[in-house]
Amino acid sequence: MSFEIQKDFFCENCKMCGTRPVIEQVKKVWTIRCPDANCKNAVVDSFINVEKWNMLNHYTGVGQLKPGKLKHTG
Ligand SMILES: [Zn+2]
Repeated sequence: MSFEIQKDFFCENCKMCGTRPVIEQVKKVWTIRCPDANCKNAVVDSFINVEKWNMLNHYTGVGQLKPGKLKHTG
């Protein structure tokens, strides 16, 4: 069974392709995974371990613009 994560729930996108992950349940095993099978990006646990997913997919490369990176030009 697979589920979509509601849009208002904060969840990091896949750090490889930027796609929002989906949830899959097989018996008592919950998987958060990137819908793109090529990424092989998944977190498997006995519960929906969004915390681990977010930690693993925290995107720190180019593309995440933080205020500290901005230069004031007047
Ligand atoms: Zn991906």
